[in-house]
Amino acid sequence: MNRKYRKTVVAGNFKMNLLPSDIKEYSETLRQLSGKARHCDMLVCAPFVMLPQAVKAFKDCRIAVGAQNLSDKESGAFTGEVSANQLRDLGVKYVIIGHSERRAYYGETDELVNAKVKAALGAQLNPIVCVGETLKQREQGVTEELVSMQVKLALYGVPSDKMRHVIIAYEPVWAIGTGKTATAEDANEICNKIRSVIRGLYGARISRAVTIQYGGSVNPKNAAELFAMPDIDGALVGGASLNPSDFAAIIEAANQ
Ligand code: PEP
Repeated sequence: MNRKYRKTVVAGNFKMNLLPSDIKEYSETLRQLSGKARHCDMLVCAPFVMLPQAVKAFKDCRIAVGAQNLSDKESGAFTGEVSANQLRDLGVKYVIIGHSERRAYYGETDELVNAKVKAALGAQLNPIVCVGETLKQREQGVTEELVSMQVKLALYGVPSDKMRHVIIAYEPVWAIGTGKTATAEDANEICNKIRSVIRGLYGARISRAVTIQYGGSVNPKNAAELFAMPDIDGALVGGASLNPSDFAAIIEAANQ
């Protein structure tokens, strides 16, 4: 991380875990354990049905609330969808877009990811845009090209004045939920590549300021080594965020 130029952000992704009735206890423990963290931004991304409870539980503290998805449409006859304005109205501040699970299981394309990024920004939400290669793609030697393309397509048409709201999460698909982490050096190399793509699109000042997280089996043991890398500005944390003590330990590592 490099706090001189950009924010360090640690985000939890509950995925489809926990119950709305779990949030109160979870938030009390996390608030207690992470209360002293001043040097990083923190948030939890909860399932839609838990967002009202989460916003209430984390009110008046430094932990923000995010969603895990949103519709690319503004409003209308789109049964089962949730709009950016609805999230914003609830008090949600962030939204994960293009998570590999949504790309793989729900057919989300780069085009849809781009439309969702624009929808989020249009409602003053901060998108956390996920990119990353599969194991096969890594073995085929196309990681840099693929991730560069995902970043360019996700940000297509996003004006530079909106870029201060955008976070990129580099999440190698083979490292998500598997217990396998990219080495800190390898993760940093791709985060650096992403920064250079953003430099090409928006110039040096914006690329220096953009927060680029790493995600993929981050835990209390490997967090500090990852955060010591110059281009890794925090983490998107799945499994380990379900346990508030583990999540707080990761926050603590980012707070150093
Ligand atoms: C994720 O859900 O984005 C993620 C990185 O999961 P995990 O930390 O469990 O690998």
